[in-house]
Amino acid sequence: MHELSVVFSVIKDVTEVARENNAPHINSVTIQLGKVSGVIPSYLKDCWKWAVSRKGDKTDDIIRGAELIVEPIEAITFCEDCKQTYDTIKYAKVCPHCGSENTFLYQGNEFMIKEIQVDDEMPAEFANQIDEDTPSPVME
Ligand SMILES: [Zn+2]
Repeated sequence: MHELSVVFSVIKDVTEVARENNAPHINSVTIQLGKVSGVIPSYLKDCWKWAVSRKGDKTDDIIRGAELIVEPIEAITFCEDCKQTYDTIKYAKVCPHCGSENTFLYQGNEFMIKEIQVDDEMPAEFANQIDEDTPSPVME
């Protein structure tokens, strides 16, 4: 996954939500990132810093200077044969309990916007905002 396009996509989503809620400015955005999602947290943060601090109207004022918080999600694989889970990063596709390769990624591929913190310090739950507000034509 390309971190910069990810960053622009997140910025687009969160600025839309902030506008719908008449928030003047976004303080921080919290993202849940799976450890095998292919997105590198440090690179993601660098791209974010650049994207929210560009000169003039290249950066929307509503997101200017906002902080990106990354919450890592552990990568866990489930084994179909012995029905146990294990650390994906350590053992990859082969189950350390029984040696089977009949396994699948249970979690660790996530990329989710968890929370948007706006200037009045009221955390906006991203998913809830979309559900509760007037339905957006994009989401239907
Ligand atoms: Zn197994």
